[in-house]
Amino acid sequence: MGYEEVVRQFDPWSSFLIKDYDKLFKAFGIRPLTGELISQLPTSHRLLRRRIIIGHRDLERIINAIREGEEYAVMSGIKPTGEFHLGSKLTAEEMIFFQKLSNKARLFYCIADVEAYNDNRQSLEVSSKVALNNVMDMLALGMDPRRVYVYKQSEEVRVLRLASLLSRDVTYSTIKAIYGEKSFGLYFSALIQVGDILLPQLPDFGGPKPTIVPVGVDQDPHIRLTRDLAKKHEKDYGFLLPSATYHRLVRDLTGREKMSKRNPMGMFTLTEEPESIKRKIMNAYTGGRPTVKEQRERGGNPDICMIYELLRVHFEESDEALRELYYKCKGGEVICGECKQLAVEKVLKWVDEHRKKREKVRDLAERLLIEHML
Ligand code: SF4
Repeated sequence: MGYEEVVRQFDPWSSFLIKDYDKLFKAFGIRPLTGELISQLPTSHRLLRRRIIIGHRDLERIINAIREGEEYAVMSGIKPTGEFHLGSKLTAEEMIFFQKLSNKARLFYCIADVEAYNDNRQSLEVSSKVALNNVMDMLALGMDPRRVYVYKQSEEVRVLRLASLLSRDVTYSTIKAIYGEKSFGLYFSALIQVGDILLPQLPDFGGPKPTIVPVGVDQDPHIRLTRDLAKKHEKDYGFLLPSATYHRLVRDLTGREKMSKRNPMGMFTLTEEPESIKRKIMNAYTGGRPTVKEQRERGGNPDICMIYELLRVHFEESDEALRELYYKCKGGEVICGECKQLAVEKVLKWVDEHRKKREKVRDLAERLLIEHML
């Protein structure tokens, strides 16, 4: 794989799926997340057990902070260009998991409205409205409001200031080598993300501290740029290099592309109408055979099936139930029609409960967006 191909696959703004994680991990120094390391975390999570989160940088630093009862930050956010969908749910669950691992953890939740402006030409006013829904989703998914700092990029002067000051050490050829040929708006968004990731280490938030950034693998360019600049400015600010965990890029329901808002038929939002969700699940790509008879005889292929993937990544908490489905599918004991129907029921039940939780936290979300923290 040539360097240009590597950059293309590691593009935070593209819809490409990654073909060979090992090669990319080796090329950029991401370390595989081993069972041994996972076992050192105080609790487990289905995303870790099921190898959805597969890589890391310096996770040991966070494990040590938890062990020693020291403060650490969890930093991530959302580009507020629409309602929460399955991809946003995945990253949100990771953030909340790390926030809950210790009562010394504080979550920094960034509304990336400058990036939405540069990448999607969306006005700051529209982003502001969408942000309320996004924060409601975070709260409904379990974010602890007592240990969070919520902010919009366009209004957080400390982030913008960091982006400006640290840009001194970024040449055009450096940023082009990391991101490929992009607009200066996107390059500047990348620098703002550096400011976001380093914000928790500023004196206003207690100074240098371990910081974990849970992201999809395609976001690694931001982590690399940040770590590079944190190192260069270690003397001025005392920054610790931020840690990161990386999840696989989940395929959309068509099985062809990375799940993203750009292809609405391949994903659904957490507030979408039940009928629409049902239609998309019923049309999802499966590992079924052309006929029921053949499937009964030869079994299906859950490894390529998006229904199985939907349950594995999002909606089946029980490892045992998931294993049972896997082997029943392989043995032809279950066929796709009934399997899809069961998935629809499970998903719609979850979505209905989530909606009810969401409505209860509207006032709290509004307050967090105005006051940033409780
Ligand atoms: S039976 Fe279920 S898990 Fe197996 S291929 Fe069909 S939809 Fe997928």
